[in-house]
Amino acid sequence: MTEVTDRLQAVEESISTAAAKAGRPRDEITLVAVSKTHPAEIVREVFDSGHRVFGENRVQELLAKAPLLPEAIRWHLIGHLQKNKIRKALPHCELIHGVDSSELAEDIDRIAGELGLYPRVLLEVNVSGEESKFGFTPETLRSQFENLLQLSRVQVEGFMTIAPYSTDPEHSRPHFEALRKFRDEMAQFAGVPLPGLSMGMSGDFQIAIEEGSTLVRVGTAIFGERPQRT
Ligand SMILES: *Cc1c(COP(=O)(O)O)cnc(C)c1O
Repeated sequence: MTEVTDRLQAVEESISTAAAKAGRPRDEITLVAVSKTHPAEIVREVFDSGHRVFGENRVQELLAKAPLLPEAIRWHLIGHLQKNKIRKALPHCELIHGVDSSELAEDIDRIAGELGLYPRVLLEVNVSGEESKFGFTPETLRSQFENLLQLSRVQVEGFMTIAPYSTDPEHSRPHFEALRKFRDEMAQFAGVPLPGLSMGMSGDFQIAIEEGSTLVRVGTAIFGERPQRT
């Protein structure tokens, strides 16, 4: 075992512990190993240990890495998707976590039609009300949700949020709880199941699992510190 696969195993164990503590089945939770900034060789080590779901936040980087790695990798796009990258990104992504406006969803829908795809997406919600964030406000999403569900190609499977940075994971809990409650409200209102809740990162994924997360996006705790991006 390598350092990285050791850390992967430790994260897996923490996920199982948090699931058990919350009385949830482990298989309700998908670990998205966030490989951004890390080279394909390291991703392959993690792949070779049996892991399959990886997350990137930049389309350019995903497109550079994917051809160097096995096709069995299931790539998730976790960051903000720029409109001019949709066409290239769609064929590679199992799930797009960060759809943050109706315009973007409509563009994805149109391009998916041209490509013959049915992309699965999560809508990013800014439940914390932080100014600088991407994401729908809950009010905007309430008013646009029915239209989003009408899109013929895009499959809305749930929501995603990023908690404000804090060194205390307990500070993330109210944001995760708010997203879960928002999901319950929208599922009831629209009469559709919205099983996907993407919340929790290296610092707070255990809390997120206690609050109902089904997709944890974990980078640093598996791959180590990232070099600073310029
Ligand atoms: C980088 C990133 C993560 C992973 O963050 P870590 O703290 O390294 O686990 C999760 N979600 C998004 C959207 C990211 O950009």
